[in-house]
Amino acid sequence: MPGRGLNQRTYNAGFPSGAVMKIAKNSVVSLHYRLTDTQGEFIEETDEPMVYLHGGYDSIFPRIEEALDGKELGYKTVLQLEPVDGFGEYDAEQVRVEARSKFPEPLEIGMRFEGVPEDPEEDNEILTITDLTDDTVVLDANHPLAGIALRFSIEVVDVREASEEEIAHGHVHGAGHEHDHDHDHDDGDEGLIH
Ligand SMILES: [Zn+2]
Repeated sequence: MPGRGLNQRTYNAGFPSGAVMKIAKNSVVSLHYRLTDTQGEFIEETDEPMVYLHGGYDSIFPRIEEALDGKELGYKTVLQLEPVDGFGEYDAEQVRVEARSKFPEPLEIGMRFEGVPEDPEEDNEILTITDLTDDTVVLDANHPLAGIALRFSIEVVDVREASEEEIAHGHVHGAGHEHDHDHDHDDGDEGLIH
């Protein structure tokens, strides 16, 4: 990861020297990650650090939280997540065929749509066009990374305590999270693992 790292960073101003904050429940953790498959094939990496509220708020994969619990600024690790711990197994029943006439042209393989699920409790699903004929469109509602074992190279670049408001809301405010006070507290999928 050229250009990344802690070279310019020091511990949070305000902490007495020697007191290193460990990641625990209600820590706000900033991290960089680089994501590949298990063959090392690049998938994505953070540009700005991903910031999340630690402690079971469902803002990051639980396996990553477990690995970071009790760790501190500067901690680095490589974690491999099986599909069940990541975006789930690939489910062939999530693939369906629709009439092409129902969709606006032009269409191409790889295009994504947001679909509204039948169950209003469920998150909106992202549908990917995986095949096209003159008359039909094949839509896949699996997450694009479903069924793929993932390898995360993670580096913790900041740890601070959450504010009471952040704890009450169950998510981070401020840097890395443009907070709209009218938000409906549905965190959505802002990032890959957020
Ligand atoms: Zn909030």
